[in-house]
Amino acid sequence: MHRDVVTRFAPTPSGPLHVGHVLAACRARELADAHGGCCLLRIEDIDARAQDPRWVAMMEADLAWLGLHFDGVPMVQRLRFGVYERALDDLRARGLLYPCFCTRGEIKAQLAELGRAPHESLGDQYPGTCSSLPPDVVQERLAAGKPHCWRLDMRRVQDVIGCPTWDDLRRGTQRCVPTAFGDVVLARKEFPASYHLAVVVDDAAQGVTHVTRGEDLFAATHIHRALQGVLGLPVPTYAHHQLLRDNAGKRLAKRDGARSIASLREAGYAPQDIMRSLRRALERGGIWEV
Ligand code: GLU
Repeated sequence: MHRDVVTRFAPTPSGPLHVGHVLAACRARELADAHGGCCLLRIEDIDARAQDPRWVAMMEADLAWLGLHFDGVPMVQRLRFGVYERALDDLRARGLLYPCFCTRGEIKAQLAELGRAPHESLGDQYPGTCSSLPPDVVQERLAAGKPHCWRLDMRRVQDVIGCPTWDDLRRGTQRCVPTAFGDVVLARKEFPASYHLAVVVDDAAQGVTHVTRGEDLFAATHIHRALQGVLGLPVPTYAHHQLLRDNAGKRLAKRDGARSIASLREAGYAPQDIMRSLRRALERGGIWEV
């Protein structure tokens, strides 16, 4: 029994609360409860898909209706850009970030030339083109205001931290090889902190000891472990849970409006019906049938 277990549910409010969210929230709550710990809420509202504040209020109302409660005051990422900026400044000062001026189209063409396919869950992996630009070219482009993002130089990261391990409760100890995932974007002009940066900084700030989340984020955890290494942050234990699927085995997506909690409530389902369906789905290997 770990009395000090802290978990979190960290939805991106880009639409209505969905049965997939409920599974993630339940996993976090159950693990905390099993150890007499706490389960926190974090609103991950910094990306382009989460710009309508109404979704946050709706999500919170749906969670309360389901009887899912969280400890303490929710953390809201939109209010924390200053904290992310300090982490970026630190990485930049240590030569671990570089500006990248490539457009999406250019990256696709570079990858096609190299014959590289996108990573299943991480998408295109940047081939590192701008990491070797001469300093005077970089200065010239920055001075001219050329659009750019900031990427984490994974080769340098690996020089600093090597290949550290992290623990997954379901899959055991994993080794993170920073260079295996490409130089990820940590900031853009429109969104001055990426998901990868914010999640790592905030898990540490909230004192999260156990991160429970869907299997789709398993690969991202390697990136997060690398960031924890260079930022000197504590490393939580991870538990990636299975995702809900439909009868055809296709992953339930947020766009499947019929699986939103609001639509199930309107169709007459009570909170306990939804929780029962979720338990049944898990017994059937994640196949959701309502
Ligand atoms: N905000 C992410 C989502 O809604 C989850 C992030 C995480 O659990 O680390 O998919």
